[in-house]
Amino acid sequence: MKTIAFIGLGNMGRPMALNILKSGYALRVHDVVPEAVAALVARGAQAQPSPKEAARGADLVITMLPDSPDVEAVILGPNGVVEGAQRGTTVVDMSTIDPATTRRVAEALTARGLRFVDAPVGRTSLHAEAGTLFIMVGGDPVDVQEIEPVLKTMGSDVVHCGPVGSGITMKVVNNYLSCAASVLTAECLVLGVKSGLRLETMLQVMTATAAKTAHLEMTYPAKAFKGDFTPGFLIDLAHKDLGLGLRLGSEQKVPLATGAAAREVYATARAQGKGKLDYTGVVSVLEELAGVQVRLR
Ligand code: NAD
Repeated sequence: MKTIAFIGLGNMGRPMALNILKSGYALRVHDVVPEAVAALVARGAQAQPSPKEAARGADLVITMLPDSPDVEAVILGPNGVVEGAQRGTTVVDMSTIDPATTRRVAEALTARGLRFVDAPVGRTSLHAEAGTLFIMVGGDPVDVQEIEPVLKTMGSDVVHCGPVGSGITMKVVNNYLSCAASVLTAECLVLGVKSGLRLETMLQVMTATAAKTAHLEMTYPAKAFKGDFTPGFLIDLAHKDLGLGLRLGSEQKVPLATGAAAREVYATARAQGKGKLDYTGVVSVLEELAGVQVRLR
């Protein structure tokens, strides 16, 4: 594998594509935002006007897009990947989307002689920059083994979860917990500050008890505790991910009361125009309602 096409150069895709480039692969890039493309071209990538053109002549095509309709349009739509990729090419979708869409895209590609692997990622944009993402992979073992060296340029952990669709299902279940737990974390911190506790004391206690979550040690210290709500991982995307988890629960007849409530807190943030803030920004919704701030001094 020498030439790779990368489509979707946002908060995650840009550093991921850059790490592939740094590992010596030739890179063909496409995004609807010209500035996102220019940043990669400045580092040696080749700009392409459409997903079809990006896929033409590539040994491997990677997509890193916001949501299910974007992936379906970029891969199967007019001027899509499917029109430019040669038979036998592997298409790897690394976005977080609805597993039903993943299966539909995989079937359509397989019917046209292409191969498909789902490889969504865990952790943050900082890990994307460091090349230390956690990659959850679904696909045929032969296809997965073939693309592993490329995945390893973006992630330090690559786990093969099972056949096509298993990676994305694992990711939806993982993010269901992470996104709902962020809302619970925000509620707890604002409650404590409003009740007169110092954030430092709460962290000392709760990182040493069963209350401990990655939000107290990783995501909130990186951003919210400094009053920094730049993304990161958008509130819009966390709202989408909880929706994916809730839909999975509905399909599987699993009631998810806390997650449903948490999703509505993200909906509140979006209604306030905060959809483009980092997902720890849900704490600012509660801070404003309670009239306090959760900050490390
Ligand atoms: P983002 O919104 O920053 O980037 C998405 C990029 O896709 C943008 O540059 C956008 O212009 C581009 N795009 C959208 N539609 C397009 C189209 N039709 N053709 C070409 N380009 C198009 O999102 P992100 O934070 O990079 O996330 C990407 C995916 O990764 C999402 O599914 C998200 O849920 C998931 N994810 C994000 C994080 C995180 O911390 N940000 C972590 C893990 C997984």
